[in-house]
Amino acid sequence: MKNKDKEKSPGTLLQEQLGKKWELAWKDLSDEESIKVKEISDDYIRFLTAGKTERQCVTLSVELAEKAGFKPLEAYQKAGKINCGDKVYLVHKDKTVVFLVAGRESIEKGMAIIGAHIDSPRLDLKPSPLYESDDMAFFKTHYYGGIKKYHWVTIPLAMHGTVVKKDGETINISIGEAPEDPVFCITDLLPHLSQEQNTKKMTEGITGEGLNIIVGSQPYPEKDLKDGVKLNILNHLYTKYGMREEDFATAELEVVPAGAARNVGFDESLIGGYGQDDRICAYTALRAILDREEAPDRTLCVILADKEEIGSVGNTGMHSRFFENTVAELIDLMAVKKPEMAMRRCFMNSEMLSADVTAGVDPNFTGTHDKGNAPYIGKGMVLSKYGGARGKSGSNDAHAEFMGKMRQTLETAGVIWQMGELGRVDLGGGGTIAHILAEYGMDVLDCGPALLSMHSPFELASKIDLYMCYKGYKTFLA
Ligand code: MN
Ligand code: MN
Repeated sequence: MKNKDKEKSPGTLLQEQLGKKWELAWKDLSDEESIKVKEISDDYIRFLTAGKTERQCVTLSVELAEKAGFKPLEAYQKAGKINCGDKVYLVHKDKTVVFLVAGRESIEKGMAIIGAHIDSPRLDLKPSPLYESDDMAFFKTHYYGGIKKYHWVTIPLAMHGTVVKKDGETINISIGEAPEDPVFCITDLLPHLSQEQNTKKMTEGITGEGLNIIVGSQPYPEKDLKDGVKLNILNHLYTKYGMREEDFATAELEVVPAGAARNVGFDESLIGGYGQDDRICAYTALRAILDREEAPDRTLCVILADKEEIGSVGNTGMHSRFFENTVAELIDLMAVKKPEMAMRRCFMNSEMLSADVTAGVDPNFTGTHDKGNAPYIGKGMVLSKYGGARGKSGSNDAHAEFMGKMRQTLETAGVIWQMGELGRVDLGGGGTIAHILAEYGMDVLDCGPALLSMHSPFELASKIDLYMCYKGYKTFLA
């Protein structure tokens, strides 16, 4: 017993023994770990700044993985086999990617899987976006995922994406991030003329059809030409990218907040940036599997999926069979006797962390959480037993046994974790990819850091939560 404890009353001591106080994860951080927090945060800020779209995140992740010794599945297919310790990746449609490290044990015993998503809410250009109005040129957009529309006006915007031209040539466009690049923006009304707008509901003050991006204002130099400003933009696009108006129909151009992710606060304890839902989990999960050096017992797997923000649909979303097919390809190279059965057993026996963010308590907004069951910024990795809405509808509900196992694993490794529900009962709710993988019969648990201003152009995360998630994912992939 410490000296201090001698002074405590029996009741206080009993409270400490039997009760649970969820503490800030910064407490008791060693000097060595403080250095690690800084190193991981700096690296994550670079990742977040460079990965503004799902395609960019795939490219970045593959680059990092190749440096860590990962090779594409085709390389192993050429060799005809996969051995214990082999590091494999498979990219699907440039938008989703699976990383695998073959384990010592039979694949039938299951894998340790972490799944995160790399798509984020944004504005997509419509198929025919360009128009001129009152001598200014605009792009029309159709928003992707859950946004609050008023967040997207009067901020600098960048544009990233892929254009497939008439002749089949594909080009990538990325403009608005470099300091010398121009940016784009959506206007808002000045306060002096906002009397009518101000009386509208927040959901109606800025409309979906009103999210039009200004792209130019100078006319093509020819007198009395109709839509000269639009022509000038078309001419610019042709000169710079060789594209014509029709090529927008076969393009995917995503408009996102421009600029780098940043340190936030005098103490620089927070990270601010666009797309932290869910690139903070994508980065920490990726890094956890890349930092693993020795061959694991179980086969390890990290999935970075697309389309989570619109329901995990489409052939790059988690509902697609791409993941099942990837595992089938893996087993095909593992010289397993009954591959069909092996795959089923593998899925049944796997364990999965659905790595996604949740909503932290924000003192600026009261009444959104039950504070005794809420995630807090800085209190470590949040384990969410369930999500869903209106009575947990649509949720994966992790079993107590699996949660108990994870709790032991995390505590043994010194990972600070907390429990948390996304918000108070019946206020709203949300989903992740957890329930999709649970369909295979495997155990799945939602976990990740809490964010503030989630789904906004500048989301906030705590550096200590980032670090605890990395540490937690690394421990799980043991
Ligand atoms: Mn998410
Ligand atoms: Mn989300």
